[in-house]
Amino acid sequence: MPTALVTGGAGFLGSHLCDRLVERGDDVICVDNFYTGSKRNIRHLIGNDRFEVVRHDIVHPLFLEADVVYNMACPASPEAYQANPIKTIKTSTVGMVNVLGLAKRCGARLLHTSTSEVYGDPEVHPQTEDYWGHVNPIGPRSCYDEGKRVAESLCVNYARQHGMPVRMVRIFNTYGPRMDPNDGRVVSNFICQALKGEPLTIYGDGSQTRSFCYVSDLIEGILRLTDYDPSAEELKEDGAAPGPVNCGNPGEFTMIELAEAVLKLIGGNSELKHLPLPTDDPKKRRPDISKAKRLLDWEPQVSLEEGLKPTIEFYRERLGL
Ligand code: NAD
Ligand code: UDP
Ligand code: UDP
Repeated sequence: MPTALVTGGAGFLGSHLCDRLVERGDDVICVDNFYTGSKRNIRHLIGNDRFEVVRHDIVHPLFLEADVVYNMACPASPEAYQANPIKTIKTSTVGMVNVLGLAKRCGARLLHTSTSEVYGDPEVHPQTEDYWGHVNPIGPRSCYDEGKRVAESLCVNYARQHGMPVRMVRIFNTYGPRMDPNDGRVVSNFICQALKGEPLTIYGDGSQTRSFCYVSDLIEGILRLTDYDPSAEELKEDGAAPGPVNCGNPGEFTMIELAEAVLKLIGGNSELKHLPLPTDDPKKRRPDISKAKRLLDWEPQVSLEEGLKPTIEFYRERLGL
C-alpha cells in the first residue's frame, strides 16, 4: 500500500484525512508541530500499525519517504494565524519549499491545501478559479492570504519546472467535529456560545456571507483531486494542470442566518451580541464548483443543518455538557 505523508495531520482537517487514509489501508505518517493541532485528534489512531506520528515543524527540512504527500500544515483560523504572523508566512513559504523538495526527491504526488482566502475580499461572485483575487498585501490577514498565494506559485512552478504531479485544492470554510472550540472560527464560536447559554458574537452587522462545507464532503473532494490525472494534452498546455480546484459548499449564508440555524438546533435563549467587524473581513464568499464537478464528479452531499448536528454533539461532549 502507498505511504502517505500528512503534514498538519493532527489538525482538524488533517486528522479526518488520516482517518480516511488509514481506513482504506494506506500507511500514514502524520507530521505536526502541534501549534494548533492536538494529540486528542489522533489519539484513536495511536497503536494502529498503519499510523505513526512525527513531531516536526515543516519550516525545517524533513527527510522521510512517501508516495503521496498531503500538505495541510498551516494554522487556519484568523485568531491562530494572526497570533504569530511571521510563523504563518514561514510555514506557507519556507515550509512549502521543504515539502516540495521532499516530494520531488521521493517522486511523490503532492496535494496542497490552499484556500478561498487567495481571493481576498472578492469583487467577483461567486469565485471561479480563474479570478485572481483582491487581497490587501499589508493587512492583518496578509500573513495567511499572501503566504497561501506564494505557496500556490511555488506549487505550479515546481510542477512546471520539474514535471512534478502537484494538486491544489482551494478550500472554502469547512466545519465539523474536532474543530478547536477555542480557535475563534464562527461555527465553533456560535455553537459553544449557544451551548453555554452565552450571547452569540456577531462581528459587524452580520450581513457578511460565507459558504460552509461539512468535513466529510471536503475530504472526499481532496481524495478525488489527489487521484485525478490530467491528460497528456492538458499537461502539454500547462505542466501544472489541472491547476487549483475550488472545494466548498455553494450554499451561502449571512452570519445572522448561521446564528439562527445554530439556535434553532440548540434552543436556549442566547441573544445576538454585535462586536466590531475585524479589519479586511471579506464581505461575501461562495465557491463556483463547476470545475470540481466536471473533473472530479464531486459536489457536497451534506446540508448545513445535517452537518451542524454532529458538530453540536461533538462540542456538547467536549464541553462536558
Ligand atoms: P488546523 O489549525 O486545525 O490544522 C493545521 C495543522 O497544521 C495543526 O495540526 C497544526 O499544529 C499544524 N501546523 C501548523 N504549522 C505547522 C508547521 N509549521 N509545521 C508542522 N505542522 C504545522 O486547521 P485546518 O482547518 O485543519 O486546516 C488544514 C489546512 O487546510 C490548512 O492548510 C488550512 O490553511 C487549509 N484550509 C482550511 C480551511 C477550513 O475551513 N478549515 C479553509 C481553507 C483552507
Ligand atoms: N528538502 C527536504 N526534504 C527532502 C528534500 C529536500 O526538506 O527530502 C528541502 C531542502 O532543505 C531544500 C528544499 O527542500 O532546501 C528544496 O528542495 P529542492 O530540491 O527543490 O532544492 P535544493 O535542495 O536544490 O535547494
Ligand atoms: N464571525 C462572527 N462571529 C464570531 C466569529 C466570526 O461574526 O464569533 C464572522 C467573521 O467576522 C467572518 C465570518 O464570521 O465574517 C467567518 O469567520 P471565520 O473566522 O470563521 O472564517 P473566515 O473569516 O476566515 O472566513
